[in-house]
Amino acid sequence: IIEQGQPEHKVTTTCAYCGVGCSFDAHMQGEKVVRMVPSKDGQANHGHSCVKGRFAFGYATHQDRITTPMVRDHIDQPWREVSWEEAIQFAASKLKGIQQKYGKDSIGGITSSRCTNEETYLVQKLIRAAFGNNNTDTCARVCHSPTGFGLKATLGESAGTQTFDSVMKADAIIVIGANPTDAHPVFGSLLKKRLRQGAKLIIADPRKIDLGKSPHVHLDHHLPLRPGTNVAFINAMAHVIVDEGLEDKDFIAQRCQTDAYQQWYNFIKDSRHSPERTAEITGIDANELRLAARLYANANNAAIYYGLGVTEHSQGSSMVMGIANLALLTGNIGREGVGVNPLRGQNNVQGSCDMGSFPHELPGYQHVSNDLLRDKFEQHWQVTIDSEPGLRIPNMFDAAIDGTFKGLYCQGEDIAQSDPNTHHVQAALGSLECLIVQDIFLNETAKFAHVFLPGSSFLEKDGTFTNAERRINRVRKVMTPLAGLADWQATMALSNALGYEMNYQHPSEIMDEIAQLTPTFSGVSYEKLEQQTSIQWPCNDENPIGTPTMHVDNFPIGKATFAITEYVATSERANRKFPLLLTTGRILSQYNVGAQTRRTDNQAWHDKDVLEIHPHDAQERGIVDGDWLGINSRSGDTVLIAKITERMQPGVVYTTFHHPESGANVVTTDNSDWATNCPEYKVTAVQVNKVSSP
Ligand code: SF4
Repeated sequence: IIEQGQPEHKVTTTCAYCGVGCSFDAHMQGEKVVRMVPSKDGQANHGHSCVKGRFAFGYATHQDRITTPMVRDHIDQPWREVSWEEAIQFAASKLKGIQQKYGKDSIGGITSSRCTNEETYLVQKLIRAAFGNNNTDTCARVCHSPTGFGLKATLGESAGTQTFDSVMKADAIIVIGANPTDAHPVFGSLLKKRLRQGAKLIIADPRKIDLGKSPHVHLDHHLPLRPGTNVAFINAMAHVIVDEGLEDKDFIAQRCQTDAYQQWYNFIKDSRHSPERTAEITGIDANELRLAARLYANANNAAIYYGLGVTEHSQGSSMVMGIANLALLTGNIGREGVGVNPLRGQNNVQGSCDMGSFPHELPGYQHVSNDLLRDKFEQHWQVTIDSEPGLRIPNMFDAAIDGTFKGLYCQGEDIAQSDPNTHHVQAALGSLECLIVQDIFLNETAKFAHVFLPGSSFLEKDGTFTNAERRINRVRKVMTPLAGLADWQATMALSNALGYEMNYQHPSEIMDEIAQLTPTFSGVSYEKLEQQTSIQWPCNDENPIGTPTMHVDNFPIGKATFAITEYVATSERANRKFPLLLTTGRILSQYNVGAQTRRTDNQAWHDKDVLEIHPHDAQERGIVDGDWLGINSRSGDTVLIAKITERMQPGVVYTTFHHPESGANVVTTDNSDWATNCPEYKVTAVQVNKVSSP
């Protein structure tokens, strides 16, 4: 695809990169995309875009696309190209054989936050109805699963509370563990607009991010905390507010559970949460923290935005609950300009969680152990559903190594590159008897696969994505699937081959089924999406056009709950052997493991991952810019190029993971969030030394 020529027609669809969910008009000549133009009607982007959505769509017709199904009996054999029918029968027969030999729970599947809601819904249905177990999980496991857990536990709903536009009414803004100008650029621009109008800004991040250095933006407080100390920091913020009597007493009395608040109040009042005591843990200057807490508490409207720097920790869920505590404490919930706002990484992280991909929850976060809720799905699907939660992704890897988990269907996710501790993941994948990979490229995971089902890009299918503000946007097909089938059709074929009949003619029928079974989606239909352009859930009889701001009068649980969030240091510690802490992130021009953006012209802007290191740490090791560096951790070793920068604080180094050869996840650890198993990507103790070559 190249940007040239005059369009013959245009089709409005949704960007397949980040969780902002920008709408684009694909200008078409026949089935060729001439250019992507940000849509002025897009309710998340209002005609704006970034370099990914605007220019990085050529991967869809890249020569690396695999368009023919392939199979092989062993992973050391070459691939054999076959018809769709043969590939599906091959996969079904392998999965049935595994279940006969090892039992029904020996197989499972992983859904993708890059696929549509309808495709994700079908995969979890396939697993529950055709596989007969709850061994379904999503790549959101490794990014925002703590958001789902933490917000449900405190506010009663696993979702952010605001629209993006709401930031224009915020007077004080805290950005924690997020880099919006690189990772969520269109929202980053909106944020800068509000900051240029004078909103106050607090950034809590181990690294200096561009937002704080933007022209005409004043950074009021940068709190450069040590990686792994988020919970100590958020508790100290709450402690100051309580200690100085800055809490919103009316809001707490009217909207929050009294007993839970009293218990939490006694917990947070303790002097171990004081800024001075916390400074020893976090490295944040006590006075700066005190000023930041006052600024947040005294603002008319104060909003918190956070990213993976919050969730990807062993205390990710505690930190999300700590953020919710802070918002409840100050009454910053339930109106515009405030709230708890997770910035979702991939385009459909929110949707993949909403659609029941988790092993313990059916669509709409309906728990599998609830007889009444399970019965509703059983009646509709005409199957029996297990009442016990199934395996999470890391449990699947462990069970594969133990020899009890033998078959995996992995749709649109490169787990061999994206999941932590690569050696462990590779060992797990290598022990499977049947790995089915469905992707647009022969990715790293496919090296361990027995069946490869060619996937379809977002340009080749109809469906919906749900962005970080719960906005359901339409994805519209602009070209015929290169492999002949869209992903949802391949999933349906596999289900039919396994003996569980699925017969949808169009993704709109899948959405109709979702609406019947999911109370927060009961008012959603493709017809309404055509009329309204987009819908923010909950959309039902009470909220027929959707819900821009959550928790205005009530929480889904009646009154909100404060959660006790005791700080527990991660077991991943720096020591003499591994004296630096490595943290990871993203860059503007690339996207996640880079499978898409590396196959576009964006590659020219960032063709390799580098290691950012503070001048002091570099000097100690005799490192100069451009040196090759060996990075060693307790999990593995890799090599990166040095970039010396004062963005970093001494003792902390940083890299991105957009290129498979950089192997950032070879060094990351097995540590994970206590509640959800979200990996602790953000803290790895490493040693860094000059090496002569890669
Ligand atoms: Fe796509 Fe996100 Fe960029 Fe919007 S901000 S164009 S959704 S990558």
